[in-house]
Amino acid sequence: MNLDEKIRTVPNFPKEGIMFKDITTLLKDSVAFRNAIDSMVEHFMKKDMHFDKVVSTEARGFILGSVLAYEFHAGFVPLRKPGKLPAETIKQEFETEYSTDAFEIHKDAIEEGESVLICDDLIATGGTLKAGVDLVEKLGGKVNGIAALVELTFLKGRDKVKGYDVFSLIKYDEEK
Ligand code: AMP
Repeated sequence: MNLDEKIRTVPNFPKEGIMFKDITTLLKDSVAFRNAIDSMVEHFMKKDMHFDKVVSTEARGFILGSVLAYEFHAGFVPLRKPGKLPAETIKQEFETEYSTDAFEIHKDAIEEGESVLICDDLIATGGTLKAGVDLVEKLGGKVNGIAALVELTFLKGRDKVKGYDVFSLIKYDEEK
C-alpha cells in the first residue's frame, strides 16, 4: 500500500512557507491506519524490542502513541503543553519547524531504567523529539526507540537525535 498518497499537503499552514503534512487523511482510512501502525510495530518487533512506556507528544502524537503502547503491552505517557498536567512536572523548551514551544512530563511518569519508545506524528527539524528524549532521560528512562509516521528528511531532524533507533514510515526528501 502506498501510504504517502494518503497524506494531504496543505501549503502555507499554519504559517506562510510551511508545507503542512496533514495526517488526518491517512488516519480516517481504516486500511491505511492499520497498515501504518502494523509497519511501525513490525520495525521494533523484528528487533525483539521491549518497551515499558510509550511517550508521545501532544496532540497528534497521542493518536499513534496510544495504539503503539497497546500493541507493545506498554504504558502510555503524554508530553503536554505547559499547565495541562495536574501533578508535579519537569519542563523542556524547544523549537519546531514553525514555532517555539515547551513540553511537560509528570515526574513520576517513568521509573529509573525503564525502556521507552518516543512517538510523534512527524519529524521536521527534530527539536520536538530532542525535547522528548531530554525529558525521558532526566527521569532516568532509557530511550530505545523513536517512531514517527512522517519524516521531512531534508530538514535533517535525525541529526538532533543521533545514536537512537529512529524509524519513520513515510519520507519526503524535498519540500513539496
Ligand atoms: P520539529 O520539532 O521541527 O521536528 O517539528 C515536529 C513537530 O511539529 C511535530 O509534532 C509535527 O506535528 C509538527 N510539524 C512540524 N513541521 C510540520 C509539517 N511540515 N507538517 C506537519 N506537522 C509539522
